[in-house]
Amino acid sequence: MKIKRIILILGDQLDLQNAALISFDHKTDEVLMIESAHESTYVWSHKAKIALFLSAMRHFAQDISSRKYPLTYIKESDLAIQEVLRKQLVEKNATHLVCVEPGEWRLKVALEKLVQDLNIQLVMHDDTHFYSSNTEFSEWVADKKELRLEYFYRYMRKKHQILMDETSQPVGGQWNYDDQNRRPYSKKGPGFINEPVMFAPDAITCEVFEFVERKYSNHPGTLKHFAWPVTREQALHALDYFVTYRLPSFGLYQDAMWKETPFGWHSILSSCLNLKLLNPREVVQRALECYKNNALDLAAVEGFIRQVIGWREFVRGVYYLDMPQMAAANFYQHQRQLPAWYWNADTHMNCMKDAIDQTLKYGYAHHIQRLMVTGNFALLAEILPQQVSEWYLAIYIDAIEWVELPNVAGMALFANGGRFTSKPYIASGAYIKRMSNYCDGCQYKPEIQFGENACPMTTLYWNFLMKHQHALEKNSRTRLMTANLSRISEDKKVLIKAHANKLLSALDSI
Ligand SMILES: Cc1cc2nc3c(=O)[nH]c(=O)nc-3n(C[C@H](O)[C@H](O)[C@H](O)COP(=O)(O)OP(=O)(O)OC[C@H]3O[C@@H](n4cnc5c(N)ncnc54)[C@H](O)[C@@H]3O)c2cc1C
Ligand code: SF4
Repeated sequence: MKIKRIILILGDQLDLQNAALISFDHKTDEVLMIESAHESTYVWSHKAKIALFLSAMRHFAQDISSRKYPLTYIKESDLAIQEVLRKQLVEKNATHLVCVEPGEWRLKVALEKLVQDLNIQLVMHDDTHFYSSNTEFSEWVADKKELRLEYFYRYMRKKHQILMDETSQPVGGQWNYDDQNRRPYSKKGPGFINEPVMFAPDAITCEVFEFVERKYSNHPGTLKHFAWPVTREQALHALDYFVTYRLPSFGLYQDAMWKETPFGWHSILSSCLNLKLLNPREVVQRALECYKNNALDLAAVEGFIRQVIGWREFVRGVYYLDMPQMAAANFYQHQRQLPAWYWNADTHMNCMKDAIDQTLKYGYAHHIQRLMVTGNFALLAEILPQQVSEWYLAIYIDAIEWVELPNVAGMALFANGGRFTSKPYIASGAYIKRMSNYCDGCQYKPEIQFGENACPMTTLYWNFLMKHQHALEKNSRTRLMTANLSRISEDKKVLIKAHANKLLSALDSI
C-alpha cells in the first residue's frame, strides 16, 4: 500500500522545530492546517484570542509555504477540527496521521478516536517545545509523596544547569527569592514604566479582524487595542525588548497592581510561548545573558526563570497526569453561577472592574489579577469551577487548557483539593488594598466586614473561614487565618454570615 502521511499542525504549534514537521518526508508527506469555528466557539472566546490564533496561523502557513512544504490550509471552516480532518484523510487516502500531542485533552482523545474509526496509523510525537516531556514528569512524580512546584523547580535548575554555580549550588546561595518579589508600588503609584512593545496589525491581521468582526460579532472583548506579536520575528523582538527594558524591574513588582496599569513590568510573553512562536530555552537564555552582561538583580531574573522552567512546565505535567479528572474536580462542591458581569465588567467592585475591563480590552491580566482578584472572588463566591474555568479559557489570549485548567482548578479554586498547592489562595479586601490602589474611591470599604459599605471580598473571606474553619485549622499554612476568627465576637459573626448570604444570593448585582 502506498504510504501517505498527513502532518497536522494545530493553531498552538506554530514552530518550525515542531516534532511532526521535523520528521517531514517530501516523498510521502503533506502538511494540513485547519481553521475551525468550533475552536472559537466551544467556549465564548474573546475576539482578540480568536484573531491572535487565526492571524498567527495564517502567518505561519505563509512561512512554511515559502519553505516549499506542500500545505493544505482550510480557511474559516464551520466544522470541528476532527470532522475536517476526517474528510481530508479520506480524500487523500492517508495511511498515517502525524502530529504533536495537542495542548487540550479533548483534542487528543478526538484524534485517537478518529484514527481508530478510519483504521489508519497515528504518530503522536511528544511536544519537544517543553523542557520536560510528560513521561519525564510522571517519572519525577513517581517517588514523591506530594506534588510541589519547589522540588520540581530545583530538579529543573539542576538538570539544565540554570543559575547554578560551579559547586552545583544555586547562584546566590538561595533557590528562590520569592520574598523579594512581592512589593506593592509606592503609594504615589508605579512611576515610569517602560511600556511593552506593540505591533501594528498588517494586511493579514486586518483581514482576520474583518472576519472576526463579521463572524463573531457577539463575542466578548474588542479588537481596538490588538497589538500582539503574530510572527516569530515579532515574538523575538518582544523577547528582546522585555529582557532589555522590563526584566530589570520585573521581580520587585510581580504582585503589584494599580488602576489602569494593565501590564506592570510583566513580560507579556505567554501568548508567544503558548503558540510556540518562542521556545522557553531561548527565553531563559536571553534572560541569563542579560543577567550576566548587565548585572541585573538576581531576584528579578530568578523570579522570571522560576515561572518559565518551574510553573509553566510543572502545570503542564500535572495537567496530563490528572486529566480528565481535573476538569471535573469540585472539592468544595461549589454550584453557584458565574455572575454575568465577568463578561462585561459591570460591577461596583473597583478591583474586579479594573481587572475585567483590561481583560476585555486586551485579553490580558497579570498573574496576581487572575489569582487574587478574579480567581479569589470566584472561590469566595462559591462559583461552579467548570464555569470559572470556561471563562478563563475564553477570555485570555494565552489560554490553552494545559496551562489554564491547572491554574484555575488547582491554584485559584483549590478545586482539586490541594493536589499541588498547600492551601487555598484566599484573601480579604485588606490584601487588595495593600497591593493596589483599587480600594481608593471604591464604593465598598475593605476594612468593613458587613453592611451596605462592606467590601464583598472581606465579607465573603470571613464567611469562607467560618464555613471551613475546621479544615483550615488543621493546615499549618492557614491556621493563622482562622486564629483571627477568635477576635470576632459571636454577634458579629452572625451579622457577617447574614451579609454573606445576602451577597451570595444576589451575586449579579454586586
Ligand atoms: C487563574 C489563573 C489562570 C491562568 N491562566 C493562564 C493561561 O490560560 N495561560 C497562561 O499562559 N498562563 C495562565 N496563568 C498563569 C499566568 O497568570 C500567566 O502565564 C501570566 O499572567 C502571563 O503573563 P506574562 O507573560 O506577562 O507573564 P510573566 O509574569 O511575565 O511570567 C513569565 C512567563 O512565565 C509563565 N508563567 C508564569 N506564571 C505561570 C503559571 N502560573 N503557570 C504557567 N506559566 C506561568 C508564562 O509563560 C509567562 O509568560 C493563569 C494564572 C492563574 C492564577
Ligand atoms: S474595597 Fe473591596 S471591592 Fe472595592 S476595590 Fe477594595 S477589595 Fe475590591
